[in-house]
Amino acid sequence: MAIATTDPATGEVLRSFDELTPEQLDEKLARAAAAAVEYRLTSVEQRAGWLGRAADVLEKDAGAVSRVITTEMGKTLKAAQEEVAKCVRGLRFYSAEGPGFLRDQHGDAESVGAKQTFVTYQPIGVVLAVMPWNLPLWQAMRFAAPALMAGNVGILKHASNVPQCALYMEQLFREAGFPADAFQTLLISARRVEQVLRDDRVAAATLTGSEPAGRSVATIAGQEIKKVVLELGGSDPFIVMPSTDLERATEVAVRARTLNNGQSCINGKRFFVHQDIAEQFLEKFTAKMAALVVGDPMDDATDIGPLATESGRADVEAYVDDAVGKGATVLTGGKRPDRPGWFYPPTVLTGITPQMKMFHEEVFGPVAQVFTVSSLEEALKIANGHPYGLGSNLWSEDPAERELFVRDVQSGMAFINGNTTSYPEIPFGGVKRSGYGRELSDLGMREFMNAKTVWIGQGA
Ligand code: NAP
Repeated sequence: MAIATTDPATGEVLRSFDELTPEQLDEKLARAAAAAVEYRLTSVEQRAGWLGRAADVLEKDAGAVSRVITTEMGKTLKAAQEEVAKCVRGLRFYSAEGPGFLRDQHGDAESVGAKQTFVTYQPIGVVLAVMPWNLPLWQAMRFAAPALMAGNVGILKHASNVPQCALYMEQLFREAGFPADAFQTLLISARRVEQVLRDDRVAAATLTGSEPAGRSVATIAGQEIKKVVLELGGSDPFIVMPSTDLERATEVAVRARTLNNGQSCINGKRFFVHQDIAEQFLEKFTAKMAALVVGDPMDDATDIGPLATESGRADVEAYVDDAVGKGATVLTGGKRPDRPGWFYPPTVLTGITPQMKMFHEEVFGPVAQVFTVSSLEEALKIANGHPYGLGSNLWSEDPAERELFVRDVQSGMAFINGNTTSYPEIPFGGVKRSGYGRELSDLGMREFMNAKTVWIGQGA
């Protein structure tokens, strides 16, 4: 894919960027490796201070950066502003809490015959982040903030359609006062990730993106015996039981499916509704989905902007056409509007069966599949039959149902009576083909650290 900013609302290429030459890439890796030697020796207080300063710089730049996000990938300006605010929060979180996460953890010395034993957390060096376009600042930030706090050096290969967001990340950390090469952006295509990951100067990698990209990076990392964290796809279940407030559940269901123009890994994508309330749910949910305003993402009145890429929209259309061709019913949407740009309307489908591709895969656009079920057990059985296991969502006032859901849903995250979202304070990640490892919180920071065991004997 060419490295360029293309406005998804018009299809116009606004700016193109040259890829790094082999010499430039080599120089950047050399600079990253040199920076890692020095940077690991900086104090945690110093790093926390730089992160705090980065939050201030980002707050100052918020207006301009939000517009760049919207221009590059089509989410509404409102959503872009929220994304930037979340990044500021993430930076402040690691600035405040990072030093505590990095404290040595003392163990029971006597039981191991020592005077003292503890685990000390140390940086591992240069970490490569391969990131997607859908939350172009937040995805990169939730890698960068804990990595820099940990004393690691970051190199970012961002998605090819968000180069200005990618370059802003590098600029932000420089302006905040971090050493110039502590965080660098590499403008390279996906096929050059292998070379970077195999390079001895690179210690580990994290990838957020699709299953094929994850498989490729995990294979290479496996061969090189390098640590890797994978945040891949999701087709999150959103289960609604009779005890819940349907007005609120449908309101959140709409947000769950359409946030980020329906292109979030943790969008609720499959809705399982108990048969006793299915008719009312469908009526309210369909009406609310149909009422959303699709249009110019820069306009305050718009709820849903265009999809980010032309091929992304073609994929969504193909999933819907496949399902409809095999007997699914369209309650609203289902057809691209006749206008320039890569728009797709909020769509509600029923009658989804295992013969349809969307039953087993991920639809990355505002398309909801609604299933009617006779029990929570039935909902969980279908939900767990999917290869992904990222987030999950239950709406119920019944404590026994909540307990069953938390125990049996196959996902990295279980949210009850509220929308699934990422917070810097709590871990984020999946199971099964949604990947492995965790981001955010203390767990995310320690993924790329050496938990070094120290044992000190009684001595003389
Ligand atoms: P993608 O094609 O996998 O792209 C993601 C990143 O990987 C981009 O930087 C891309 O570079 C690079 N890439 C692509 N193929 C690669 C390969 N074979 N080797 C190394 N790098 C490669 O993903 P996408 O379709 O743009 O993004 C949507 C997917 O990301 C969805 O499945 C979504 O659920 C998932 N996602 C997951 C999370 C999570 O936290 N679990 C969050 C957001 C999104 P180019 O742009 O240059 O191709």
